[in-house]
Parts: sequence; structure tokens; C-alpha cells
Amino acid sequence: MTTYPMIHLSGINKTYQGGAPLHVLKGIDLDIQRGELVSIMGASGSGKSTLLNVLGILDTYDTGEYWLDGTLIKNLSENKAAEYRNHMIGFIFQSFNLIPFKNALENAALPLFYQGVSRRKRNMLAMEYLDKLGLKDWAHHMPNEMSGGQKQRVAIARALITKPQLILADEPTGALDSKTSGEVMQLLRDLHQQENLTIVIVTHDPHVSEQTERTIIIKDGLITPQHD
Ligand code: ADP
Ligand code: MG
Repeated sequence: MTTYPMIHLSGINKTYQGGAPLHVLKGIDLDIQRGELVSIMGASGSGKSTLLNVLGILDTYDTGEYWLDGTLIKNLSENKAAEYRNHMIGFIFQSFNLIPFKNALENAALPLFYQGVSRRKRNMLAMEYLDKLGLKDWAHHMPNEMSGGQKQRVAIARALITKPQLILADEPTGALDSKTSGEVMQLLRDLHQQENLTIVIVTHDPHVSEQTERTIIIKDGLITPQHD
């Protein structure tokens, strides 16, 4: 049995260079356990996306240590970073980030393309996930023919298709009305329960954070100590 957390951050610092240096993360200490559903809240510009990008190995940090599933994530080659991203992590973004000239099925299947999975197998799995998310009849529709909620469900299918252990979502409901936002949150909660996924959601919406098990507050580049 593994005893280490899914995510362990200690003393993470990050400064953006170029122009005036901006010290955004000022010694972040944070553990997130396997199977947790947590939210990260904080004012605009407080470093939420920066932190999520570090967690997703989309960006590097300067000092400290980031351990993901027991592996130290530091000084990785771009190949190694891509390998961890493609196999361990699913991403969901506020603006969905679907490819506009590909249909729902092709968008959902995209991570498998990067893994070198055959077209037939990709399409079969993508259809399975679209079906799971209630989008079977929309498989051959283009993103511009779909509502915001439908597009985000395609993006969720795309995030899940590689069976990642960790889902990172940056303002996943930020572009949705409150009813659709509630539906997307319910979906994430169901997935968390059914698949025991670890899910980290950045949000500024208290209705979203209320639906998570724990809210992490980032302020002035630090995580506010928790009382729980
Ligand atoms: P949040 O997601 O909480 O709104 P961000 O992590 O996006 O905050 O940004 C934190 C701070 O870092 C902001 O002041 C932002 O302008 C700055 N910042 C973000 N990305 C970059 C970058 N690539 N280069 C320089 N500054 C950046
Ligand atoms: Mg942000």
C-alpha cells in the first residue's frame, strides 16, 4: 500500500522573469491525497493558474520540491514531462480548448492520437466516453454547433480518455451559466466518486468550491493555513 500523497509540494517558489521580476509563488506547502476532490480559491492574479500549471507540469518552478505520485518532478526533459502529462493527468480549461475544425469524437480522442493508439481504437473509446457523458448523438458535431455545457463535456471526455489519476481544472465553469455550471460540477463529483479520481479545481465561484471536499486558499503567494 502506498502511503505518500498524490501531490506533495514543499517550499515551492516561482518568479516570472522578463520585465520586472514577479514573485508569484512564495513557498507553497501543500499535500493532496489520492481520491481527494479539492478546490483552490484566491483573488484574481493570486497565482492560482500558475500553481495549477506547475501541478500539471505545464510550467516549471524555481525552488522547492514537487512530488507527483511519489516521483520528484524537477528538471524533467520535455519528453519526460510530456509522458507524465499524457499518462497521469487530464486537463479541463475555462475556454474548453477544443479544436474548432475537429468534431466532438475527434476532439475527445485527441490524447490517444498522441499516445499512438490506432484510429479504430481511439474512435471506439472516444464514443464510449461521449456516451458516458450523454453526448453520443453529438459525436459528429463540430464545436461551433454545441452549447457551452456540451463543449465542456467533450473536454471532460478528452480529459478522461487516457484514464488519468489526476484531473486539473482551471475555472471549468467560468464560461457557463449557473445551471450548466451545476451540471458540470455534478459530473465531476460523480466521476470522483465512481472512479476515485483525484480532482483539483481552480475557481473563484463559492458555489463550486462548496461542492468540493476541501478548499485551499491562496493569498499573497502562500496557502492560508487550514483549520480542519
Ligand atoms: P490567477 O490564476 O490567480 O488569476 P495567475 O497565476 O494567472 O493568477 O497570475 C499570477 C500573476 O502572475 C499575475 O500578476 C499575472 O499577471 C502574472 N503572470 C501570469 N503568467 C505570467 C507569465 N507567463 N509571465 C509573466 N507574468 C505572468
Ligand atoms: Mg487563472
